[in-house]
Amino acid sequence: MDKRQLNESDKVTTIMRGDGEGEKLRAAAEQSFAQGGAQFSQVSGIKEKKRSWLSSLSMKSALSCPLKFRDSLKKMTKSQSINMYIQEVPDNPKEVQIVESFRELLFLEGHTTGKQINYHTLLRFLRMRDFDIPKAKDIFLNYLKWREDYGVEAIPKEFSFDEYSEVKKYYPHGYHGVDRYGRPIYIDRLGMVDLNSLLQVTTIERLVRYHVSEQEKTQNLRYPACSIAAKRHVASTTSILDVEGVGMSNFSKPARCLFMEIQKIDSNYYPETLHKLFVVNAGSGFRILWKALRAFLDARTLAKIKVLGGDYLNDLLEVIDPINLPSFLGGNCTCSDYGGCLFSDKGPWHNPEVVEMLQESSSAGEGNTDGIQSVVPEDNSVPIFRDCQGDAGTKPANGVFLQKIHTLEDVLGDTKTKIQALEAALENTKMVLQGLSQEMETMNI
Ligand SMILES: [Zn+2]
Repeated sequence: MDKRQLNESDKVTTIMRGDGEGEKLRAAAEQSFAQGGAQFSQVSGIKEKKRSWLSSLSMKSALSCPLKFRDSLKKMTKSQSINMYIQEVPDNPKEVQIVESFRELLFLEGHTTGKQINYHTLLRFLRMRDFDIPKAKDIFLNYLKWREDYGVEAIPKEFSFDEYSEVKKYYPHGYHGVDRYGRPIYIDRLGMVDLNSLLQVTTIERLVRYHVSEQEKTQNLRYPACSIAAKRHVASTTSILDVEGVGMSNFSKPARCLFMEIQKIDSNYYPETLHKLFVVNAGSGFRILWKALRAFLDARTLAKIKVLGGDYLNDLLEVIDPINLPSFLGGNCTCSDYGGCLFSDKGPWHNPEVVEMLQESSSAGEGNTDGIQSVVPEDNSVPIFRDCQGDAGTKPANGVFLQKIHTLEDVLGDTKTKIQALEAALENTKMVLQGLSQEMETMNI
């Protein structure tokens, strides 16, 4: 069992504590509620004698008629617990400490904010470098620079992969359901790639950009949606690579370029997101090729790869329910309504309830630095992006400017939380006033 598996199973208990953490939040909000009442009594100048009566009324009101308040509280708790699944509650003090040290080092070097500087992203880069902070810092800064140079933030909005359907025809691949843990499953039928036809409808550069756009969608939509659906933190993918018929002969120069480029991006910029890779239908041709390919993969990645021949079904069924496994791999799913499993992109990220919860959680301003980023794209079935190659508007924004925006986003998030607390206090004040007015009526004052 690899380190990541251990970590994830260890974390289950923490994540399952979600409701308990919700209770803590409820208690904190109730305290804020009570404080709101006390503050009101001071500012309104009510006599000292009446203050204790008012305080008891405040508590009484809270118990007898706080329906609206409790609704808002429930909403807050629900939203908080959604983020808890997405972000996970770290229960490893050493891990928290090392991530904080990493964050401090970045801060000292002027990298103060930005949505990439969040707990889980920093942790992934630390893990990639075996918790060596200076080494992790180098690759992390390299990652930030790549995001800026490559214009990653602009891709979901501005890159239009119009050849999507054609590409799928010549290169069958796609996300399809979740494994037994709740991680998204990615399937790639490399053996069925028609490279000549593929390169007539697109280019290597555009395929790489499309790959990055899918990686971003996985980070920002698929993982958060899977976390909500599985009620635990999900941040890695189970992949199946069908290599039937793949050998040295069809690993031409363009295929090598594509492989190298995608491999470089995935290992340098999206580290620790592969949970397990099952290579299936590996014949003798692939096994020769595999010996050459291994040299380009680091030991951590290699440990997650299982190369199997035609007798792979039991290995897959151990981790995937047949309902989430396409029939061409021995499972029960055909996705006939979508023209095949690799066209459906089925998964919790298409569940309207989950998407709504993500939108709510996102618009509540929570997790802006420590969880979901830009959450829901306009269209979940086919990436509809506008191509902007050569367009001045796609040039990466100035780093300083971006940093200022991120700082502003952080401040706004903080302000939003304060406003929510203030709203809760106001709600309390309103009820206290209502109670007071009723009490005065009863007393015929
Ligand atoms: Zn299917």
